[in-house]
Formats: sequence, structure tokens, C-alpha cells
Amino acid sequence: MARLQDAETPYAVNAHGKMKNIAVLGATGSIGRSAAAVIAANPTRFRLYAAAARRSADELVRQCTLLNLAVAALTDEAAARETARKFPAGIKMLSGEDSLVEISTLPEVDIVLCAVTGIAGLRAVIAALRAGKRVALASKEVMVMAGDIVNAIPTGEIVPVDSEHSGVFQCLAGRPKSEISRVMLTASGGAFRNWSKERIAEATVADALNHPVWDMGVKVTIDSATLMNKALELIEARHLFELRPDQLQPVIHPQSVVHALVELCDGSVIAQLANPDMKLAIQYALSYPERYGTRPAGTLDLTKVGSLEFYAPDEERFPALAVGRMAMERGGAAPAVLNAANEAAVESFARGAIRLPKIWELVAEALERCGKIDDGTLESRFAADAAARRYVMEHLG
Ligand code: MG
Repeated sequence: MARLQDAETPYAVNAHGKMKNIAVLGATGSIGRSAAAVIAANPTRFRLYAAAARRSADELVRQCTLLNLAVAALTDEAAARETARKFPAGIKMLSGEDSLVEISTLPEVDIVLCAVTGIAGLRAVIAALRAGKRVALASKEVMVMAGDIVNAIPTGEIVPVDSEHSGVFQCLAGRPKSEISRVMLTASGGAFRNWSKERIAEATVADALNHPVWDMGVKVTIDSATLMNKALELIEARHLFELRPDQLQPVIHPQSVVHALVELCDGSVIAQLANPDMKLAIQYALSYPERYGTRPAGTLDLTKVGSLEFYAPDEERFPALAVGRMAMERGGAAPAVLNAANEAAVESFARGAIRLPKIWELVAEALERCGKIDDGTLESRFAADAAARRYVMEHLG
């Protein structure tokens, strides 16, 4: 993969003036819908060429009609069969898990925006990079599970879409790695920022979903409440920017206006600020290295924001940070175990099977029990992922 922060590296995609064909994986989720809005706002620059969803046919049909797609896919075969007649005539329909790889490697596609979670997304990202594409990466699981494997692919390039990582990427602006001393990712602090440890232990699903700033899916919102989201993002940043664990630091910043800060070797700190709206990071991942004046996050008025606050996170109330750091320092399959155990535990919490603290307890246990064998292959990461999920489901209590 081309090293984007390395000024010597020529840009793999630098199509000034040329319409870019985009493929979106996870087109009907929160990121996918924002991507469709960004593409619709820049009709002379981007075309949504292909889009894939799991089974939300209606939203996919809406995008097909509005944005004139060439290819659409539903990975759920049954949903694809049942809804085929709803799609406009002339569109090429694909179905099944393999359709993500198929869409990601279409010769017409310039950029693959990956916003699907899980193993299917990881395979698609690897296939897209091998095909020399730019990957606009919104699924943090990809770098968490297999950042070392992805970084070893010599072709293609990744531009981050997660707001904090896009912030780091913008702060770096092509600087060589040797000039970076520290990277700080901000966290809003989630729904329990001011809650006591005792109150957090009793939190309900509705409490966790009451996120103060960002409007996101259920899984990410619960991860924001436990700060596991930040733990995963630190691991993602480690691989995206090829940093050591001790160069990465989370900072609580309730206003979510500063998305990331980069401390350079001379002590200067560069920050990226914008109103919290994912559409800006999505647009930049598609437009980079250019910038467009469409302002998808509006105009930031700091006099309206008033004050910007920063706190060190409290690991006593948010143990997920320490659990995540342990996984990052271990490396190998440990981050894959962290991610999978957390996904299974969050899903169990969301359906009322466990209490909130059980999430990080189960993840910490899974880290001790699973994924010790890692031979650096994707298969060993998938095995660790499966073992971690199994462990959690067998120890719900
Ligand atoms: Mg984020």
C-alpha cells in the first residue's frame, strides 16, 4: 500500500478533473447514506457506480434511482431474491457475500468506500488494494484485525474516513513518519462521560444509546459509551500511520470540534477542527488530495462553540481503554480477539442478556483465552475472531 504520509510517495490516484467512480460497501448504513449525500452534492466529480448493502433493499433502490448506479448488490441472498423486481431495469444486480469483492475489483471503480463490518469487509478491502484501488476506509475492524497484513500489500492506498483518523491524516499532510512524535485522538466521552462508576454499572441500553454529539449506529454508539470505540481507533491509527503504541493517546473533548492533534518532533502541535459531521471526512477521502468548496460540515464558528475542553480519560470508570491498550501492545491476533469479543458482548448487551460492565470483563477474559496462535495469516485472524465470539457466547453468565 502506498504510504500516504510519506511525501516522497507519488499519489496512486490523482485524477484531477476526471470523474471518479465510487463503490460503496455498506451503502444503507449511517456512513453509506452520508456518502450518497456527498456524491449527490458533487455530481460532476463523483459517480456512485456501485453500491452494496446487506438486505435494506428500499434504501438501495432509492440510491439506484437517484444516483444512476450501474451495479447494486445485496449480500443477503434471500433478500436479493425477494426484492429483485424493485430495482430499476438495466442495473446489474449481484448477491451473496462474494459480491463485495466483485464490486471492489470492478475495473470501472476508482475508489472503494468500505463501511461494512466484519470479515466480508476485510476481504473486500484486501481485494481492492490488490487491484490498485484507493480504499476510503470507514470500517475500523479492517485495520484492527489485520493492519499488519493490509500494510504489507504493495499496491493501492488507504485514506481514512473515521473522523479522528481523517483529522490525523489532514494534520500530517504528507509529513514523513520520522517527524511525528505523538498522535492524540479525541473522544466526545460518550453517554456516560459524567457518570459515576456505580451508575455506569447499572446503565441500560437506552442510556448507552443517548449519545451527546454524533448520530451513529447502535454498535458504535455503545462502543462510544464504553470508550471501546476509542480503544479500537487507537489500534486502527497505529496501523494506518505506522506508529508505536506509546505514540498514541486518547483525549476526552466533549465538544467534538477538534478531531485529532498531532505533535511533531519540534513540539509544535497541529490540530484539525470542523463541525462534527462525517460527510466532511467522507468527502475528503474521495477528493484527496484536492479539496472542494461544498462544505459538507458547514462553517465552524468558534465564537459560537465558546470553549474547547480537554480531559485525560478516566480508566477507572472506563476499563475498556486499558483492555484495548493491552491488545494493541500484544499485537498479532490480540486486536482481532478484542474486536470480535467486543462485538459479541455489545450485541448481548443490546438485547438485554448482560449488564454493561460485563462487556469489558468478557473482552479481557477472551484476550487471555483466545488467539494465542497467530501465524500472520488472515486465516489465523479469522480463527481468533471465531474463537473470541464463541468464548463470549459461552460465558454470558
Ligand atoms: Mg471515530
